[in-house]
Amino acid sequence: MQLTEHFKLEEFTYSPTATKLKIDNSVPDDLMPNVKLTAIKLEVVRKALGKPIVINSGYRCPKLNKRVGGVSTSAHTKGLAVDFHSSYGTPKQICQRLIDAGVQFDKLIQEHNQWVHIGFSPNNNRQIVLTAVKQGGKTVYLNGLV
Ligand SMILES: [Zn+2]
Repeated sequence: MQLTEHFKLEEFTYSPTATKLKIDNSVPDDLMPNVKLTAIKLEVVRKALGKPIVINSGYRCPKLNKRVGGVSTSAHTKGLAVDFHSSYGTPKQICQRLIDAGVQFDKLIQEHNQWVHIGFSPNNNRQIVLTAVKQGGKTVYLNGLV
């Protein structure tokens, strides 16, 4: 199902973990407006980068979220966040570009130099920027782009 010009619903629900564990990761009807909103916002992200983006993880049902170690309040479980990468550049370069381009988001996280997490809010985008790093085996979130 095509959500916007460049994004399909399947890109938001696809998960190798869900497939492997036979978890039904389809989006419940009541969360579809959130996923559509996220797709619309991702069109803005794509435009700012001038390159396609590849979603690694979009929607996660609570069961899947638990299995991949996500926090229970994760925006992924509400259909309001995606983890992605892009041929535009490194996660840090992508984050910097989105900030410079004035893209609206609730939370933007440069995750371990491996991917970018971006989350949106239907009504209050807080423009929070964080960098996730491992410290003593634990993930910690530093303010800004580090
Ligand atoms: Zn994420």
